[in-house]
Amino acid sequence: MSATPHDLIKFIDSSPSPYHCVQAVVQRLVGAGFSELSSELVWPKMGVGEGHFIRRNGTLIAWRNGSGDPAGAGFRVVGAHTDSPNLRLKPTPEYQSHGLTQWGVQVYGGVLLYTWFDRDLGLSGRVFTQGDDGLVEHLVNISRPIARIPSLAIHFNRSVSETGFKPNKQDHLPPLVALDWDLEQSAVDHLISESIELDSDQIVGHDLMLHPLAPSVLGGVREEFIFAPRLDNQASCYTALEGLLDAKVGEPTALISLFDHEECGSGSAHGGDGALIEHVMRRIVTRHEVQSDGGFERAAANSYMISSDMAHGVHPNYSAYHDGAHKPLLGGGPVIKTHTNQRYATDGETAARFRTACAALDIPVQEFAIRTDLRCGSTIGPITSSNLAIRTVDVGCSMLSMHSIREQAASADVAMMAAVKAHVLGGSN
Ligand SMILES: [Zn+2]
Repeated sequence: MSATPHDLIKFIDSSPSPYHCVQAVVQRLVGAGFSELSSELVWPKMGVGEGHFIRRNGTLIAWRNGSGDPAGAGFRVVGAHTDSPNLRLKPTPEYQSHGLTQWGVQVYGGVLLYTWFDRDLGLSGRVFTQGDDGLVEHLVNISRPIARIPSLAIHFNRSVSETGFKPNKQDHLPPLVALDWDLEQSAVDHLISESIELDSDQIVGHDLMLHPLAPSVLGGVREEFIFAPRLDNQASCYTALEGLLDAKVGEPTALISLFDHEECGSGSAHGGDGALIEHVMRRIVTRHEVQSDGGFERAAANSYMISSDMAHGVHPNYSAYHDGAHKPLLGGGPVIKTHTNQRYATDGETAARFRTACAALDIPVQEFAIRTDLRCGSTIGPITSSNLAIRTVDVGCSMLSMHSIREQAASADVAMMAAVKAHVLGGSN
């Protein structure tokens, strides 16, 4: 199935946490005939056109074997990230205050905090129980309005619209979840055990977070917009997945890597700065019947990666924040992101390859470079390209409200980005 904005919003709404995002990708991969491999076990020989994937926590790597020897034909890679800034529960979150039950939270990534106030919030993530053969992971998705962070009445802070909103992260973010909860069991354990039908004393660990409940929609007069949470960066995960499913089998091995932990710097065992992607690529090279000296290193040298993360579209009310000649438009096509100090991995060559791919498909391409007097954000591109020595371009679809609880992008960009990814993953560029 080719990428559409309607399908993207379904994908996002089924993915309140990185673990659910991985699960949504797995369901589609399995439906397309991909089979799961385990990092712990020996892998079979891989036939041309076969699709496989591995997953580790909130990270998934999937690939379809090309017709060429991976050392000589290389990989075509699309990278993205499954995580989004949000509020996450502390290990023992629950406490009582002034007749109310609250949960202590940690801020994950660069959250635009004011947008989390006065929202109806659900609870999602994963919990672990002890099974006969070790720990068992259970996904949790409680999509009903359990929690809310009420804003302070303007009567107590009359100058907030002039002086700015400056919440204290420890004191002002804990949501209210109940009027005094007086059962022996915590409200968290009660909700989880009810949701996955377990006794709460079986739960031995959790990674839980809050998510907004308002459904994603197509908006605007002609449905030209997408209003949704987590567009950064589930929209890129979605177009990477659909691009892989649509790509023809070319000579290179087509691989997508959807990483967790980008929003906190990518430094984890399975993040963009972890060893997982290198392990997987090495194993793909070594499972091929043709072996040669320096196989993995040759494969890296023959590879090309699209690092895909959302891009800053020009905001009409704040257009002064963009450089005059680098103002990507919503709906204007994929954006190439360039930063000479390597906050983006793009260079002249990798950008040229991406532009050529867009031109072959008659897809417009836009350019972003930050104003020279502003600090530039970054993404997985510089990290994975420096670890793997793979030529990389950083690209994304234009969006507004980045890191808000509810973001905005353009419907038209979805199919364009998926098509370019399919073209490159198919080895045509
Ligand atoms: Zn991002």
